[in-house]
Amino acid sequence: MCFNYVYGYLGDPSLPPNYFSSGCYYCVETICAPCGVVIAWTKFAHSESTTNILNFLASVYPTQDSWPDYICIDKACQVLATAVINGSWEVWKHTSQFIVDAYHYINHHLQDYLCWTYCNPAPANNVAPNLVIVEYDSNGQPYSHWAFNTQVCKQLNAWLGGYQSIAKWITPENFNWFIHVMLFYHTKYTIKKQQKKQSNQETEDGDIGCDEETETEEEEGSDEE
Ligand SMILES: [Zn+2]
Repeated sequence: MCFNYVYGYLGDPSLPPNYFSSGCYYCVETICAPCGVVIAWTKFAHSESTTNILNFLASVYPTQDSWPDYICIDKACQVLATAVINGSWEVWKHTSQFIVDAYHYINHHLQDYLCWTYCNPAPANNVAPNLVIVEYDSNGQPYSHWAFNTQVCKQLNAWLGGYQSIAKWITPENFNWFIHVMLFYHTKYTIKKQQKKQSNQETEDGDIGCDEETETEEEEGSDEE
C-alpha cells in the first residue's frame, strides 16, 4: 500500500509581478510515503487548487497500475468532489481512495457528508483493515490504532518551513536546487533512521544519515535536522 499526501507552503508572493523569484510561487507541494520518504515535489504558481493537486498526482502516477491504494490529502474531500465533477474519479475509483488526515477528519467529518462517508482515514467498521491495526493495552484489552501517520507531510512542511527565509530570496534555479537537495537530505535521513530502528540500534544525536563521501562533498550548509 502506498500512502501519499500533498501539502506545502513556501514563499511570500509580495514581489512585483515582473520580478521573477521563488517568492512569486504560492507553495511547494510534496508527495510522501507514510514513513516520511519524499516521492515527488513541485511548485504551484497561484493556488493549492484541487485541480492542481489532481494534475500533480496524474503526473507522478501516469499509469493506472502505478496508482496508490490510499491517497491522504488534508483536503481530500474537496479533491474527491472535484474528481467526481470533472469525471476523473470514474478512473481513480478503480484503484484508489482519497482520505483526509486525522486532524482534518476530527474537525470536518461532522459538517461534511462526503468527508464523513468516503474520506475517513481510519474507519472502525473493518472496511479498510490496512488503515487500522489492533493493539493491546497493559491489561490485555484490544484497542484500535491508526496504522499510519497521516501527518507526515505536515511534519515535513514544518521542518522545511524553517528554511523559508533562505528560500524566499534566492534565484529560481537556486530555489529548485535548494528544495531538491533539502528533500533528498530529509529522505536520506528518514531511510537511515528506519534502518537503525529495524536493526535495534540507537540513533546517535547529530547523525544526519549521510555517508562519508556525501559529507565530504557537502561540507557546507549541512544543518542537522
Ligand atoms: Zn473534509
